[in-house]
Amino acid sequence: MWLLRRLRDMIVRMAGRLFSLTLLAGGLLLTTACSPPPKEHVSEQFLMDTLVTVKVYGDDPAALQQASAAAFAEMRRIADLADRFPSPGSPACAASDICRINTQAGGEPVTVKPETLEMLTLARRYHRESHGAFAVTIGPVMDLWGFAGETPHLPPPQQLTAALALVDDNRIDIDTAARRVRLTQAGMKLDLGAIAKGYAVERAAAVLRRHGVTNALIDAGGNIRVIGTTPRRQPWRIGVKDPRHGEALIAVVQINDGSAVTSGDYHRYFEADGVRWHHIIDPKTGYPARQARSATVITGDSTVADILSTACFILPPERALSLATSSGAELLLITADGRILHTPGLDERSEIVAGADYRYDHGR
Ligand code: AMP
Ligand code: MG
Repeated sequence: MWLLRRLRDMIVRMAGRLFSLTLLAGGLLLTTACSPPPKEHVSEQFLMDTLVTVKVYGDDPAALQQASAAAFAEMRRIADLADRFPSPGSPACAASDICRINTQAGGEPVTVKPETLEMLTLARRYHRESHGAFAVTIGPVMDLWGFAGETPHLPPPQQLTAALALVDDNRIDIDTAARRVRLTQAGMKLDLGAIAKGYAVERAAAVLRRHGVTNALIDAGGNIRVIGTTPRRQPWRIGVKDPRHGEALIAVVQINDGSAVTSGDYHRYFEADGVRWHHIIDPKTGYPARQARSATVITGDSTVADILSTACFILPPERALSLATSSGAELLLITADGRILHTPGLDERSEIVAGADYRYDHGR
């Protein structure tokens, strides 16, 4: 009898425990289903010549605000480090590694921050992989076109030839161990316009993650980096603009934790004699690249996406597609003759919404 009672008590206790475990699990599910959606914190600043938006999601507004402020501070720090335009001798030039390297061209090496070294090392790698299409020594040619100023214009051909002679990424001496950089000839100039924004955005994403942010979007004038999924646990849907029709879209691409960056002939350009002269220069000719209207690269790292979008914009379409593939990235290319091409990986992840102005044959 005593034994039976003990057995019955044990069974009741075990059942109770099982029941409470189920309840706990049920309670958790219930909490998730009913919990309010995470709060959104949006902030904007004008940085790197563009409007930068940071959207972060979470439960603690003060923490979100702090994380966003730290992300902006990091972007500003990288932008200042890579700024080539301060006047020589100014405090802003002293604070910019790129300004100091350019001022010292043909002279003594300059000690730089690890971040500058990282950008230049990546630039050198993709200079090789793009067979010279990507060239951060493009500075003297950019200056002649005047795209950084108010009145860009066609440069005189002789001056262009002279400036092109100074474009050669193999003449950037990088001493990685000593963190010293030198341009071998006076007049050479680094221009990180095709990489610094992507790098700044990637660093800002790392800052957000360090602050515990698990869902976020950074948009630096179309240079997009997302962390995690949307707050509703869906992939982010990123619109790719029609390069000829303002706000119309040509495609919608889904990304989960990664980056999408577009280089286009519609960002900075002027028209003369019925020709569109834009700011992405083929280092082989000194003139704007002619094969594409836009190149959108989707990959994990925003620095690589920024570099590749510029390189793929310049290269002939077939070579652009193979560079993206060999770099583990996806590419959506709008060619100069109105074709929409993309890497096979985008079959599943993109919707093409282009109108009759474009030819689309499954991306091929
Ligand atoms: P993005 O909009 O990222 O394609 O970058 C365009 C900017 O990159 C230009 O405004 C220049 O500052 C710079 N740039 C132009 N042509 C080249 C090139 N061939 N290689 C590297 N940077 C370039
Ligand atoms: Mg770029």
